[in-house]
Amino acid sequence: KSATIPNIDGSVNRIEEDDEDDVVDLAANSLLNKLIRQSLVESSHRVEVLQKDPSSPLYSVKTFEELRLKEELLKGIYAMGFNRPSKIQEMALPMMLAHPPQNLIAQSQSGTGKTAAFVLAMLSRVNALKLFPQCLCLAPTYELALQTGRVVERMGKFCVDVQVMYAIRGNRIPRGTDVTKQIVIGTPGTVLDWCFKRKLIDLTKIRVFVLDEADVMIDTQGFADQSIRIQRALPSECQMLLFSATFEDSVWQFAERIIPDPNVIKLRKEELTLNNIRQYYVLCGNRKDKYQALCNIYGGITIGQAIIFCQTRRNAKWLTVEMMQDGHQVSLLSGELTVDQRASIIQRFRDGKEKVLITTNVCARGIDVKQVTIVVNFDLPVNQAEEPDYETYLHRIGRTGRFGKKGLAFNMIEVDKLPLLMKIQDHFNSSIKQLDPEDMDEIE
Ligand code: ADP
Repeated sequence: KSATIPNIDGSVNRIEEDDEDDVVDLAANSLLNKLIRQSLVESSHRVEVLQKDPSSPLYSVKTFEELRLKEELLKGIYAMGFNRPSKIQEMALPMMLAHPPQNLIAQSQSGTGKTAAFVLAMLSRVNALKLFPQCLCLAPTYELALQTGRVVERMGKFCVDVQVMYAIRGNRIPRGTDVTKQIVIGTPGTVLDWCFKRKLIDLTKIRVFVLDEADVMIDTQGFADQSIRIQRALPSECQMLLFSATFEDSVWQFAERIIPDPNVIKLRKEELTLNNIRQYYVLCGNRKDKYQALCNIYGGITIGQAIIFCQTRRNAKWLTVEMMQDGHQVSLLSGELTVDQRASIIQRFRDGKEKVLITTNVCARGIDVKQVTIVVNFDLPVNQAEEPDYETYLHRIGRTGRFGKKGLAFNMIEVDKLPLLMKIQDHFNSSIKQLDPEDMDEIE
């Protein structure tokens, strides 16, 4: 089964829908990540750089001063609380600010400082005295465009004459008026409309073109082609920058089509590992049994905070009600909530207001709560073919090696699901021990 969901742009997202909860909306996930982000994400990997001209010297900076930015921009950066460039910014900023301008394709996971970097590039290249669009940034959705715009406003707080405009559906420009703002951020469909049909933006005057969240962008039908049509009308001296959190082949192909002669910067993601996680399973007869086992575990050991994963919304709801009736403080995070609601539930959980968070697959990726010591798979993650979903298992339970505090994971297993668990065990080559829920001594 497949469903289509219209974007604010009028374009549609193709979404494979095999289960009420298996709808993965990349743009919503990305927005959620931005809303709950508290600080820079660190990485222990080295930044990999591939220069368009390998013989040219490679610069990196350790301070923002070295970049010789306009005074007011440097003030804006410090006002945001940034002390020094992030790992990716160390390499990317000198390239992005070079004269003559260089093109760049950069990939690093969300939270590593990409947005701040290209906002800095746009603000440093803009001429505040010229009242027409000079920087153009494409984003996959209205909400993501707004998030980027907020960063421009904060970082550009002291660049008083620089202004932002949003090319998004619903933002109507009266006939006969010109766009005088220097920075335009928008979704591809509306930007295309403003450039070619309504002639509000003169693409030949654009000096910096940014394509943000390329992986999310190509996930939306039509956006890749629309972006390329816009890019084709830019002058050759326009700087072109593309960012992505992931880099599958499809993203890479798109990046190479749209960014001529690029430098490439990559920062690998911190790998998840099961090494410092003790994994257990409890054999159960049915859902009630699973619940009983969960209560025994919960009563048997001192728990900081726990996340419990269910395969369907229905199960998650049922479990939430059961636990609440038994007097536990739990909250439910599921796919039917808006992104804002999800963000606030995760925030409350982080603040320790609830000790247990019950959730489904659709929300699994956005959560990174370091204080969680226990993860429970109330249902094992399986794919449509009823085979184990290894990737999801790893995402639910794994930790990055560097921050790996010891963790505990419990799998509630119906007898007929035992072979699936054994496959998971083999796949990761890590042991999952059987546990008698009446006897918790084994754990502590
Ligand atoms: P990305 O675009 O890769 O997701 P962002 O640019 O949004 O990353 O940065 C992630 C978070 O880190 C944001 O809260 C941002 O304000 C902050 N940040 C970015 N660069 C720096 C820096 N050099 N120092 C401190 N914090 C930073």
